[in-house]
Amino acid sequence: MLQTENLKFSYTGASALSFPNINCQKGEQWLLLGQSGSGKTTLLHLLGGLLSPTEGIVKVGDTILKKLSTAELDKFRGKHIGIIFQKAHFVRALSVEENLKLAQQLAGLSVNTNRIKELLDRLNVGHKLHAKTNELSQGEQQRVAIARALVNQPTIILADEPTSALDDTNCEEVIQLLEEQAAAVNATLLVVTHDGRLKERFEKQILL
Ligand code: ADP
Ligand code: MG
Repeated sequence: MLQTENLKFSYTGASALSFPNINCQKGEQWLLLGQSGSGKTTLLHLLGGLLSPTEGIVKVGDTILKKLSTAELDKFRGKHIGIIFQKAHFVRALSVEENLKLAQQLAGLSVNTNRIKELLDRLNVGHKLHAKTNELSQGEQQRVAIARALVNQPTIILADEPTSALDDTNCEEVIQLLEEQAAAVNATLLVVTHDGRLKERFEKQILL
């Protein structure tokens, strides 16, 4: 479902980062571990098609990401890949509900307000439907970011350090949530972290 071959990436002027080959099957849940600066975020951005590799390929299902045009890639990502960034960014002028609607529209899907409401309820932020995103607490923002990543029922969910800023209780809650939500749609989940607390949680691990 999510595969890479001989993936390399160089930032301008820097030496190339090389990544181990990845092969995650449908429905599998993986942890990607590595020290700060080891290239975790870079790899996640390559997997999500936000960066294009200098060498090698990323394959999502049967689609090789670098064969898509920019417009095709944007649509493909919106439909099939849910990304939870280390720091959530929303359109500030829009409400929580409008931010999620936008995610559906950008993927070329029709707006489904029931799905939005249901998802936010399950993440215990349903009462924030009409709030502006900057009126939310850090934890609520994170839940909304998870909802947005899941709203189009992606086949792949990528999460960048979703727990690094959280205490043990919230860490546990967020990870459980991601696992449950991924399992509910049989999505492939890849959690990127340097958080040692998660080491025991996932059997399948990739080390950078
Ligand atoms: P991690 O997420 O594991 O902390 P990153 O993928 O963010 O690691 O970074 C990997 C390496 O690439 C680091 O050496 C970092 O300094 C460098 N790097 C990251 N982003 C950029 C950038 N935009 N421009 C140049 N170098 C970068
Ligand atoms: Mg990072």
